[in-house]
Amino acid sequence: RRYNFNPGPAALPLEVLEEAQEQFVDYQGTGISLLEMSHRSRTVEDLNQETQQLLLKLLGLPSGYEVLFMGGGASTQFALLPLNFLNTNQTANYALTGSFSEKAYKEASYVGRTHVAASSKDQHWRSIPELSATQLAPDSAYLHITMNNTIEGSRYNEIPEVGSTPLVADLTSEILSRKLELERFSMIYAGAQKNLGPAGVTIAIIREEWLEKASKKIPEIMRYETFAKNKSLFNTPPVHAIYMMNLVLKWVVNKGGVEQLEQLNRIKSALIYDVIDQSEGFYKGIIEVNHRSHMNITWRMENEGMERQFIEESEANGFEGLAGHRSVGGLRASAYNAVPFEACQALADFMVDFARRNG
Ligand code: PLP
Repeated sequence: RRYNFNPGPAALPLEVLEEAQEQFVDYQGTGISLLEMSHRSRTVEDLNQETQQLLLKLLGLPSGYEVLFMGGGASTQFALLPLNFLNTNQTANYALTGSFSEKAYKEASYVGRTHVAASSKDQHWRSIPELSATQLAPDSAYLHITMNNTIEGSRYNEIPEVGSTPLVADLTSEILSRKLELERFSMIYAGAQKNLGPAGVTIAIIREEWLEKASKKIPEIMRYETFAKNKSLFNTPPVHAIYMMNLVLKWVVNKGGVEQLEQLNRIKSALIYDVIDQSEGFYKGIIEVNHRSHMNITWRMENEGMERQFIEESEANGFEGLAGHRSVGGLRASAYNAVPFEACQALADFMVDFARRNG
């Protein structure tokens, strides 16, 4: 298999793929595939329930939260969040740190009043802006942040302190990659296709007390409450994606949990950042050093011709997915949980060799 640095859908653990392959036609001796099974069956209900509990446990969230499995990707959450939680007499605050946070902000602006509490757009997203309660609108519904910026390659090191305003985070590109005090959030959400499993399922975890305040004036299918009441079995869920997530969560447990993965992610990303920093400007890191993401590592090279050559040679040498996002160009290595240390070591070696030959 190739070294997979795709940004998302991203690498899955080989063990997970093999286990799913083994169960594909005859799921756990039931005589049918999970793809063919009713979501009202005991088997699927149990799988659904077990996966929700496992996720809460791995995230270190105590009781008092609802786990929802939804469709539509993280982008649908950009719209559902304000539809559920932005009342007409309130303002939704957004911290802009990259293009996904801008998209979230734009969707909210179709729903109600919004306020940009902080932005690093003027710095071309190279840094993460300071945030405090004084920057928020007086009648705040919530503050939305993007903890890890997938395209730009930056992250918050700490969860910002913003007083009593409900805090909501998009964790799509870093969930389960480091220990965070998630009780500080009223809601978190993530598309599965990076650290949780395949595309098709999106998770939203909402504090029960906050959920009680959600709007009852929107269509039922858009209400978080509907999913919570029905344990995410209101309509047909993406069962196979949930099953794959279940396998990924068990893989995380086997790896020693989030703490172990965090340590490994620090080491993996440092291998590549060290090459960038020691290359005497051959590779140019984009993000301010203290806000560099451990999931998405971005850099530029002298010119686009050299960047193209790097991508072509990397592909010929067994690497996948190193081109930067089409909106920004440059290079990006997405080293999510399932990307093994050996892949990062191989990439670091390739980068050193490429610089020696072309520097
Ligand atoms: N938010 C972040 C941080 C992302 O990285 C992505 C996708 O890469 C999205 C939102 C959009 O997710 P989806 O494609 O599931 O709508």
